Amino acid sequence: MGKSPLHTRLFRFTALSLSGMLCMVAAGCADNDLPQPKAAAAAQMDTTPTQHPAAAPLNDDELRVTLLGTGSPLPSTSRAGMSTLVQTNKLNLVIDAGRGVTTRLHQAGVSLGQIDGVFLTHFHSDHVSGLADLWMTGYIPPLGGRQEALSLYGPEGVGNIAEGLTSAFKNDADVRVADGEVKPEATGLSATEFTHEGVVFDQDGVRVTMFDVQHDPKGAIKPSVGYRVDFGEHSVLISGDTIPVDNIVKYGSNVDVMIHEVAEFEDTSALPTVYAHHTNPRQAGQIFKTAAPQMAVYSHIVNGTIGIPGVSNEKLVERTRENYDGPLTVGEDLMSFLISGTGIEVHHPSNI
Ligand SMILES: [Zn+2]
Ligand SMILES: [Zn+2]
Repeated sequence: MGKSPLHTRLFRFTALSLSGMLCMVAAGCADNDLPQPKAAAAAQMDTTPTQHPAAAPLNDDELRVTLLGTGSPLPSTSRAGMSTLVQTNKLNLVIDAGRGVTTRLHQAGVSLGQIDGVFLTHFHSDHVSGLADLWMTGYIPPLGGRQEALSLYGPEGVGNIAEGLTSAFKNDADVRVADGEVKPEATGLSATEFTHEGVVFDQDGVRVTMFDVQHDPKGAIKPSVGYRVDFGEHSVLISGDTIPVDNIVKYGSNVDVMIHEVAEFEDTSALPTVYAHHTNPRQAGQIFKTAAPQMAVYSHIVNGTIGIPGVSNEKLVERTRENYDGPLTVGEDLMSFLISGTGIEVHHPSNI
């Protein structure tokens, strides 16, 4: 007799109830011996090993950058919130943790428990709202199994965020510890704050330098920083949210990969407030021309909003080309850049 979805659901519910004592977490409650309705079978595909380059080991001298989220505050299925993964053969560093960072890391095949540091550029929610998810899902044994606190780095205020999240989500840590699922030290979120620009991380040959940027004409949005990551001869700069400032060129001159934010609408007179808080493609072109990165990459793409049309990727490039004719890529979620002695190899997510 064929099983109806209702029958299957009831059966699964009963089986799960009986096995409740053994079930530490939902994801750990394996019921593979039960008949699988179609939706569950499809969901299971997310547990198969990924073919994404970020899941592959790196050579000693390679640096890999993966765009986890390239979007803006606009809730989008194709562009998750701002987040960038920087990897060496020893470290996985995440710069900004916008909406969807946990899902994108999972899609990239990077263990949520193997994140060695999260760096925040500023505290607008589109750069922070995925942090709680990454922190807590990372300590769930089958999904990450992190054994120690997640390390958070950034300008003044990251301590406040760590404290606030710890307080807001205290029950999750408490009940998982009480339930014997995780050790107390795994549930920590430890913050290290820096009041001035300079090197904020130096480990296993990776140096992260924080520098000031400016997110609005008055400089009201503080702190606002960008980061440069150096590893051997290789380097990547992440601009953070900024209007054009000298520091991008100062810290980004001749970097291998310059990841820069951009905002553009079809009608360039639309939303002057947005333009006053971001960098348009003509301005970005000027910055790229001066800084001369090996590869310029757009991420944090504010490209239209509700009721205000943006521009196509082609148009974005065309408008950048008014001032810059070097290498340029319009970022997409899960796009990867492998920086090695032989140059920069771009992996497009559609080819994965
Ligand atoms: Zn912002
Ligand atoms: Zn933003």
